Amino acid sequence: MKLVDLHTHSTASDGTYSPTELVKLAKEKGLCAIAITDHDTTRGLEESIEAGRKFGIEVICGCELSVEFPQGQMHIIGLWLPLPPRKLEKELKYLREKRHSRNRKIIEKLNLLGIDISYEDVLREVETGATVGRPHIARALVKKGAASSLQEAFDKFIGPKGLAYVPKEKFSPEKALGILKREGATTILAHPFSLNLSEGELRDQLRRLISLGLDGMEVYYSEHDREHTELYLEICRDMGLLISGGSDFHGSVKPHIELGRGQGNLQIPYDLVEEMKRYRRERGLHVNS
Ligand code: AMP
Ligand code: ZN
Ligand code: FE
Ligand code: FE
Repeated sequence: MKLVDLHTHSTASDGTYSPTELVKLAKEKGLCAIAITDHDTTRGLEESIEAGRKFGIEVICGCELSVEFPQGQMHIIGLWLPLPPRKLEKELKYLREKRHSRNRKIIEKLNLLGIDISYEDVLREVETGATVGRPHIARALVKKGAASSLQEAFDKFIGPKGLAYVPKEKFSPEKALGILKREGATTILAHPFSLNLSEGELRDQLRRLISLGLDGMEVYYSEHDREHTELYLEICRDMGLLISGGSDFHGSVKPHIELGRGQGNLQIPYDLVEEMKRYRRERGLHVNS
């Protein structure tokens, strides 16, 4: 069976594999297609397309946006972005700038807690121009000896219950779906379990999101158990949503997650990509890398 992974992160955001290394790893894992879906950025895409040509892997250009959702975490993935995605990049630049002010606030709070850390210490963990996020701050905290592990850095300091937590500026679901659709992207609700909703509430939310331009939902995901996977499949069929799947691979930031395999529970068939392409062709949208 031809296998894929439609949710991955590179060093363009908070993953630890460069776009090229990620595509090479996809080849080694026997995948035939991979979507690069970095947070708030498209800067890894050109490189990953190049690498896709080199290694004979179909690369789908994507990105992942966190959106406002009080009950839980709502993330929207856009797939088949054009290159360059000019309109989208203009909007993403705003988010990345907001991230810098948030990161500075986190550093200030850490300093007030008596931790000797500067934004420069964090930026040393990041490739120039990449999306700077909490995983980078966590790495700097571990290097400084303020936390013994990334997990501890999140639990004690920068996670939602941590002493130096600062929320992130996000778009509304309307805005995020709007800008992705304007670029001709196929839009996917990522890891629906993180919305913390009952089945009925999820169906209600999906109706709202579909009216705003949602095309599909991530059914196969590293943290979805069998029961959830089956429920999400049924919901996709009932509501006419495209079915997606991905591991959310981040390299050593999430060492328990393997590309294409998740926590060992994933096997995402290429058929899903075929179906998405069919859906796009019907709407006159491009299906090339
Ligand atoms: P940010 O976008 O800056 O808020 O950072 C979000 C990223 O932090 C997510 O993509 C996760 O990879 C990572 N993250 C969130 N919580 C944890 C945690 N408890 N342990 C490790 N990584 C985490
Ligand atoms: Zn991430
Ligand atoms: Fe996510
Ligand atoms: Fe992700």
